[in-house]
Amino acid sequence: MARPMASKKRVNPASANRSPITGHRSLFARLGLASDWDFVLHLPLRYEDETRITPIADLQPGVEAQVEAVIEHCEVASRGRRQLLARVRDDSGELLLRFLHFYPSTQKQLAEGKRVRLYGSVRGGLMGVEMVHPRVRVADDTAALPQRLTPVYPSTEGVSQASLRRRIAQALQNITVTDTLPQSLRTRYRLPELAPALRGLHNPPADADQAALSEHRHPLWARVKFDELLAQQLSLRIARAKRAQQRAPRLAATGDLTQRLLAALPFVLTGAQQRVWRELEVDLARGRPAHRLVQGDVGSGKTVVAALAATRAIEAGYQAALMAPTEILAEQHFRKIEQWLAPLGVEIAWLAGKLKPADKRAAQARVASGAAQLLVGTHALIQDKVEFARLGLAIVDEQHRFGVAQRLKLRSGAAGAAGAAVADTGQPHLVMLSATPIPRTLAMSFMADLDVSTIDELPPGRTPVQTKLVAAARRDEVLARLSGEVAQGRQAYWVCPLVEESDLIDSPVPLTAATRMFEQTRALLPELRWGLLHGQLPPAEKAAVMQLFTRGEIDVLVATTVIEVGVDVPNAALMVIEHAQRFGLAQLHQLRGRVGRGSAQSWCVLLFDEPLSPTARERLKVIYETTDGFEVARRDLAIRGPGEFLGSRQSGVAMLRFASLDQDAALVEQAREAADWLLREHPQDATAHVTRWMRGRDGLLDA
Ligand code: ADP
Ligand code: MG
Repeated sequence: MARPMASKKRVNPASANRSPITGHRSLFARLGLASDWDFVLHLPLRYEDETRITPIADLQPGVEAQVEAVIEHCEVASRGRRQLLARVRDDSGELLLRFLHFYPSTQKQLAEGKRVRLYGSVRGGLMGVEMVHPRVRVADDTAALPQRLTPVYPSTEGVSQASLRRRIAQALQNITVTDTLPQSLRTRYRLPELAPALRGLHNPPADADQAALSEHRHPLWARVKFDELLAQQLSLRIARAKRAQQRAPRLAATGDLTQRLLAALPFVLTGAQQRVWRELEVDLARGRPAHRLVQGDVGSGKTVVAALAATRAIEAGYQAALMAPTEILAEQHFRKIEQWLAPLGVEIAWLAGKLKPADKRAAQARVASGAAQLLVGTHALIQDKVEFARLGLAIVDEQHRFGVAQRLKLRSGAAGAAGAAVADTGQPHLVMLSATPIPRTLAMSFMADLDVSTIDELPPGRTPVQTKLVAAARRDEVLARLSGEVAQGRQAYWVCPLVEESDLIDSPVPLTAATRMFEQTRALLPELRWGLLHGQLPPAEKAAVMQLFTRGEIDVLVATTVIEVGVDVPNAALMVIEHAQRFGLAQLHQLRGRVGRGSAQSWCVLLFDEPLSPTARERLKVIYETTDGFEVARRDLAIRGPGEFLGSRQSGVAMLRFASLDQDAALVEQAREAADWLLREHPQDATAHVTRWMRGRDGLLDA
């Protein structure tokens, strides 16, 4: 209750009297609008054509139009749903108006005999053509029809279109829009000048192509989109150049730690791992902060590459930090890395939210004193203000799982912490790991500021996972396979989307929650050793269950998607996914990647409920047809489009308001080309361009 009251107060005339503009100003601020430039860039969502009156007889279903007519009859229909119905007529015919929500004022406006102007889209109804919720205005014979299309702006409650229009018109008067694109560039890409483009978008003439404008494919839009994409390209290049000037510790092979780790590993690196490690080595030794993404399919062996980088930092006399998105994954990394590095005498600290305060303080103290050479943990690494004595390298696993803000914080936190102690050597290096490959077009546009290494080979001796699609009705067969696998000494995961029955949100099919699944199936196969793992368990219990499974003391782990990323138990050979149609492609691929890590033939069984929607069918088909993560990502992109693929959490997307990677691929390419040229030939214009477009957003670039 408190909220609506508060917002009402802001538009209350009494308080508006005291400060005539504050009320509006704070409402505009909710739309992110403050400066004149903000208003000028607040571009219409779509347009309405009020420049013409269409005779009722000429109305086309589905097409918006303006009609001028006289009210013949108006009533509140009480049969069926309560609604306001009005019949209007012009010289050419009759039209029905239908209002499902209305106020007494609407009724008054529609009094019989009145002449009104209506704007809306018509549809064929039972009683001839009708308009649902048209906009109604009293027809004023003295007022001429507008000469321009009417812009419709993105808005919010309490901000009227009229007030936005007024304020935007004022902003257009207030500022002189200089063009940051030289004439030659505009000519090359056939782009209009900026000032007329902006004016045109706010106030298109009556004869402009309304559809092209509304669908953002008009040449005037191209100019705005191009500018936006160019600003993005420029800022990525500027960020890269800035980074190139910063200093970072030279992490060179000064000891034999890395060599000893390589010698102690129970396997030899694959060719791809060796290549990527060489790329990283060069980066780390350069004395400039590395900013590298190591991408590789699930199971390609990214962890060991991260461990090698850590030993390199340590042998050069620095500390390293490894951050993972979940406690389960962080703990598993800790155990594995401890197993590799403790025998070599490396001091490792562990930090997670669940630690007792005393243990946390002890870990932090060891990191601050420099006694701990490597810190492994969760978000706690950035949340708890960890101070490092000499941080030289920060590694983020499954980086796409972290939000922009978190990645930023790790980077700046790390830099800040390292600042005092290693002022002589600068920023720590940043290495990110991801199993979600970034398609080339995205890498080109959003990730232009990132170096990318790809581990494109799986360790030898793996047998590709066999994927089966099984209708939920055939669950018995799956249980039989489960017993079979366990009888051969192998383990299995059984994944359900939910924890409790109470989580059963409105779903068309009855869903099996993990807890019930666990109880029921355990009763069917009591001879197996069962475990249950989900996000709502206390951290200590989660860790205990995971450890039992890792040690082979649990045969079947019933789990929610907490096991989705990173979990590595090579003896697990069967993955069953309940309600597989509910999962996204990337998720299914990640889950499947939990098996097939040993030499035994592994299976992934996707249990699905019928009927399947066309997209769900498409997704399952992709997972069935390919085990290659890059191919999965490519097809995911084709199904969903890049915006969704990246998610709003990814940096670049947050920077784009007008352009779309889907539809404007050609513009992205041109903006890339233009960015290089502009930086080279007209650096001042480039700076002015970025300043104009990126105010307040530059932080995003470092993430
Ligand atoms: P991901 O890339 O998904 O993070 P991991 O680093 O967890 O993969 O590695 C998957 C499994 O493969 C681990 O058990 C790891 O020890 C093992 N592994 C990594 N590299 C090799 C290799 N070159 N040869 C054999 N096994 C390897
Ligand atoms: Mg991993």
